[in-house]
Amino acid sequence: MKLHDVIIIGGGQAGLSIAYFLRRSNLSYLILEKQAKAGGSWNHTWDSLKLFSPSNYSSLSGWPMPKSTNEYPTKSEFINYLSAYEKRYEFFIQKQTEVLKVEKENGLFKITTNIEIFYSKTLVSATGTAKNPFIPTYPESAKFNGVQIHSATYKNSTDFEGKKILIVGGGNSGAQILAEVSKVATTKWVTLKEPQFLPDTMDGRYLFNEATQKFLGKSEEKSSGDFSISLSNIVMVESVKEARSRNILNAVRPFEEFYEHGVIWKDGTREAFDAVLWCTGFRANLKHLESLGIIQNGKITTLHTRSVKEPSLWLVGYGNWTGFASATIYGVGKTARQTVKEITEVL
Ligand code: FAD
Repeated sequence: MKLHDVIIIGGGQAGLSIAYFLRRSNLSYLILEKQAKAGGSWNHTWDSLKLFSPSNYSSLSGWPMPKSTNEYPTKSEFINYLSAYEKRYEFFIQKQTEVLKVEKENGLFKITTNIEIFYSKTLVSATGTAKNPFIPTYPESAKFNGVQIHSATYKNSTDFEGKKILIVGGGNSGAQILAEVSKVATTKWVTLKEPQFLPDTMDGRYLFNEATQKFLGKSEEKSSGDFSISLSNIVMVESVKEARSRNILNAVRPFEEFYEHGVIWKDGTREAFDAVLWCTGFRANLKHLESLGIIQNGKITTLHTRSVKEPSLWLVGYGNWTGFASATIYGVGKTARQTVKEITEVL
């Protein structure tokens, strides 16, 4: 029987951050990672994606990301950094190993993978959200005979040339994909409320600083003019600024329902579209933990990152419910450090 002190499920930035702090302890750990390549879900994002903060704000603990030739690093620069980070610290990681099921057996975790069974005293789940894209329910969506894709599988605008596209979602993904697709297609943008754009002079750094204040418990509702700063605000990266100069960033409120060729707006008007591009976010990918019976409404109740019902389990990197900004490159290190401190105390 292979028994580890800690098993980390997922070798993206969150899993590597946990390993970074663990390697300074005497605890035995192993990362189990489904993919063959380093880089987590960054490997699957769209081709033109750039980070929304400069490299010094896009770095994991211990080793800063090398300076990019661009102000904002490209996704391949970031994947190369993650790959080099993994090699630099020689983390114990077993690739092409997908965790299928986690159970409790005699006080230990029994972790069933596609390769073999592992046992551990404690468990960190760091499987991200990319494998659980969220699409809101709208009446009659099955009737629509156009294409529907989520930003999770969007690669580039080639398939949309000359078409009429409805883009749904008011976050950074929605704004950036709208900016790209609107260069080759006619677009309409649907958001729940008026999109919140950061001022041009601010980028992801300001969001992270705000998140840090929250993490330290020092935050008051901060605002800049009449504008409150939130992690979901749209950062005015070059492509989004360029779309603004073409007067593309105009959003309307949601439609009522679908019909065969498109959507029906609240006033009853029908409008045809060739495709709907859902940029409506993600939920935690927790399927492998279902057998523990502690998932409620897609989440696990935690105190910081530690599961309340299963105190030998920690969840890292999923969103604000696992620590402010824990689903960002800059933010994940803080929650990882705290998590490893707790694990070390328990063991
Ligand atoms: P992931 O990168 O998804 O890593 C999870 C890993 O777990 C994957 O490698 C996966 O293969 C593995 N895995 C999953 N299930 C299993 C299983 N059952 N068994 C074994 N392995 C498994 N943040 C920023 O700070 N700056 C940005 O500019 C930025 N831009 C973003 C742009 C987009 C489009 C998106 C979607 C997110 C962006 N983020 C950004 C947020 C965040 O940094 C990324 O989503 C990041 O990938 C999250 O890392 P993670 O390690 O939590 O998850």
